[in-house]
Amino acid sequence: KKILCVIGTRPEAIKMAPVILALQNQSWAKVRVLATAQHRQMLDQVNNFFGIEPDIDLDIMRQNQALTTLTARLMLDLDDVLEAEKPDAVLVQGDTTTVMTVALACFYHRIPIGHVEAGLRTWDMQNPFPEEANRVIAGKLARWHFAPTEKARQNLLKEGVPDREIVVTGNTVIDALLMTAAKKLNIGVDVDPDKRLVLITSHRRENFGEPFCNICRALRTLSENNPTVQFLYPVHPNPNVKDVAYEFLSELPNFILCAPLDYAPFIAAMKQAYIIITDSGGVQEEAPALGKPVLVLRDETERPEAVDQGVVKLIGPHYKKIVEEVQRLLDDETAYRAMARGVSPYGDGQAAERIVKTLREYFV
Ligand code: UDP
Repeated sequence: KKILCVIGTRPEAIKMAPVILALQNQSWAKVRVLATAQHRQMLDQVNNFFGIEPDIDLDIMRQNQALTTLTARLMLDLDDVLEAEKPDAVLVQGDTTTVMTVALACFYHRIPIGHVEAGLRTWDMQNPFPEEANRVIAGKLARWHFAPTEKARQNLLKEGVPDREIVVTGNTVIDALLMTAAKKLNIGVDVDPDKRLVLITSHRRENFGEPFCNICRALRTLSENNPTVQFLYPVHPNPNVKDVAYEFLSELPNFILCAPLDYAPFIAAMKQAYIIITDSGGVQEEAPALGKPVLVLRDETERPEAVDQGVVKLIGPHYKKIVEEVQRLLDDETAYRAMARGVSPYGDGQAAERIVKTLREYFV
């Protein structure tokens, strides 16, 4: 059976890699990898790391491309790909425009879709934009829903998805993390191993503009107030992020701004970090498994499990709250210990195996 695995952005490449690798070991499956390359360099470095080479590469990324244009161009290309490939099933991961568009194209071509990381919901279509709508649409069209948690399964049931179409697998991000964290890793950036490290990632579209300025102002204050702490922020290349971050945060002696780290060095940075501040979904899943407290620069999350367990805290893109909460974790050992417990509600590293098993039982 021909299984086409689709990847568009860095997190999709990371979270699909364990599935692709597991399928490649199956005698009944012929795996094909389609990269839409909604993101270019960041996708390529992840594929290189996992030894995955896309069979088809649509190279769809253009500077400042509107989401509508991206969708339309992708849709046209997908017609040709699906006609030529005629896959028996297509796997997509997550909530990007790639996922939504591929799901719709496969639906029109009557090809069954497996949705990896299914059932995450904020129940607010505008938030996060456009991810919530992307995953809801993909979820409506999918044949297999690979839910990372029981909570995600409940969300799908609430939307009327039949129970028999849902499999709780854990999140493949933990499979990838465990495969990687076991290796000897190097951050590759000059950080002092004897100083506490605050690691930051922030590039969510919903925070662009004033919220992102507030985040940068708060980081600046924290860096000025804590000269013995190091701050490391690998900055996303999007100009909405990069220009503002460099305006506010360059020239601080204890603040390192750098290009996005490759995946393995980023895992090394997470392992080294004392606190992680992020608006990323994947980092919210990875960091608790490494025992690192996470402060999330959003007011809500579709990943509430770690928040409920007290190892992730929502602090929004609010200046005062960010300064207070980070300072508290730096100063209050008890509060810190309570959040650094090594709780991992998102998986046990076997998610890809469960996905493959489901497909094997269907096809073989
Ligand atoms: N990541 C990385 N380099 C970085 C920052 C993050 O490789 O400089 C990885 C991280 O380990 C996680 C993923 O990228 O697995 C998260 O991607 P992103 O924040 O872009 O997307 P989201 O998780 O919000 O979908």
